[in-house]
Amino acid sequence: MRVTIVGGGLAGSEAAWQAASRGVPVTLYEMRPVRPTAVHKTDRLAELVCSNSFRGDKLDNAVGLLKEEMRRLGSLVMRAAEASRVPAGAALAVDREQFAAIVTRNIAAHPLIAVRREEITSIPPSSEREPVIVATGPLTSDALSADIARLVGSEHLYFYDAISPIVLAETIDRSKVFRASRWGRSLRTEVRLKADATAEQGARSQTQDLRGVRLQLDQPSCGVDDGEGDYLNCPLTREEYDRFYDALVTAESATVHDFDKERFFEGCLPIEVMAHRGRDTLRFGPMKPVGLVDPRTGREPYAAVQLRQDTLAGDHFSLVGFQTQIKWGDQARVLRLIPGLEQAEFVRFGMVHRNTYINGPTVLAETWQVRARPTLFLAGQMSGVEGYVESAASGLLAGVNAAALAKGETTSAPPRTTAIGALAYYASHANPAHYEPSNITFGILQPLTSNRVPRGKKQRNTALSERALADLEAWTSTRGLRQPQDAPELAVRVEG
Ligand SMILES: Cc1cc2nc3c(=O)[nH]c(=O)nc-3n(C[C@H](O)[C@H](O)[C@H](O)COP(=O)(O)OP(=O)(O)OC[C@H]3O[C@@H](n4cnc5c(N)ncnc54)[C@H](O)[C@@H]3O)c2cc1C
Repeated sequence: MRVTIVGGGLAGSEAAWQAASRGVPVTLYEMRPVRPTAVHKTDRLAELVCSNSFRGDKLDNAVGLLKEEMRRLGSLVMRAAEASRVPAGAALAVDREQFAAIVTRNIAAHPLIAVRREEITSIPPSSEREPVIVATGPLTSDALSADIARLVGSEHLYFYDAISPIVLAETIDRSKVFRASRWGRSLRTEVRLKADATAEQGARSQTQDLRGVRLQLDQPSCGVDDGEGDYLNCPLTREEYDRFYDALVTAESATVHDFDKERFFEGCLPIEVMAHRGRDTLRFGPMKPVGLVDPRTGREPYAAVQLRQDTLAGDHFSLVGFQTQIKWGDQARVLRLIPGLEQAEFVRFGMVHRNTYINGPTVLAETWQVRARPTLFLAGQMSGVEGYVESAASGLLAGVNAAALAKGETTSAPPRTTAIGALAYYASHANPAHYEPSNITFGILQPLTSNRVPRGKKQRNTALSERALADLEAWTSTRGLRQPQDAPELAVRVEG
């Protein structure tokens, strides 16, 4: 009985702690300092490569809920974060040196964990009593990446993340946008997301209703969220396009790491790079208006930006093909020049960076097991989640399940009403055709049932959190999982 873990980052360290806390011996392989990465600076486990923030820490905030769930599951990452906390208002920010030192010290001191400093170049053999977790992060070394590509299929492994901005649905000015698919074709002829049985049932009947529906020019859908078409379209006049274009080509780009200076794939060029190729390039790319008829004019607009529903609950929309490296302040200013987005609230800004990750829904089960090889788990950023907390959360569940497998028990995931369960469900069930790693948001949790939905957003989120924590407790008690009061003492003394 043993769990082998490759990668001693946030996910791998958490997974090791969880498995060892359940009495299963762990071998944890970390390649630093023998082989460094382009961004890590130390040899410590769980090094934070950029910001020192674990983001919001209140229960009316989805990442706040995820953190609370992790605390209740005895997370090492959360306990180390608490012990190295620095003042940051409503957010949880840490002293990065202390944080990584506490994780490293506690992993090293655990009698059931052996840390080996070496690069693993191929996925180790795995079996039911000796499962393997690969958690090598966004900068997975080349040799191992090649082996992962062989396992999942090279078309399901990505090396760059070209992330489009995402806006909150309720901040889109519906009087200026219209709902339609290009050429009136609807993607809803497929059931795009496997939601729960009820939602799936609803989606199926909607699919049938919408089959063959054509855009009715004499019945404008403008300003009416009538379900016709798959996209919200922001039409631009020539003047509006010129204003947007001029702002875009003069906006300030973010500083990039060396690896970002490599040639971009043509398929994921940042919009500002395309714009610099010529004034009209975007009108033949992500802003092309062909096949889109603005119901207010009965004509194709000069240019158009398409917004696609991004979450199961439909409260987020991403700007299709709008990956960008413009600095976040400038990004908001430029994108708010798009008609309909003047007041947009950005849930996530666009970016392009090196990121090795798989297309989770084609490969994973919600237990973070590889469907085609259940004795192998993929966790952390490379499994298709985004962010420190989300990576650690996936490592936590992978560690719990790998330990269960090693002990001859069954694996399982918390329900989709919890943040940790919803994240696992998203990474394993979202639409593979448009898969993008996601931060946790309330939009991917199972919605509240209609007769219990409070009116305000804050109250709604708090109600979602209360339900999540109750459901997590029910799940942990049926699984007999460790609660924080019986978790081992953490060694927090750090030098300096
Ligand atoms: C430049 C950059 C900036 C980022 N900034 C932020 C941010 O500000 N906030 C945020 O929330 N997220 C940020 N992220 C995302 C962040 O990397 C992840 O959220 C988080 O670190 C992922 O955790 P992980 O455990 O999956 O990977 P990591 O923490 O990267 O851990 C993976 C570990 O695996 C090791 N490894 C790799 N290959 C091998 C191998 N073959 N054999 C053995 N060991 C191996 C690596 O050395 C590393 O220690 C950023 C990512 C990048 C690339």
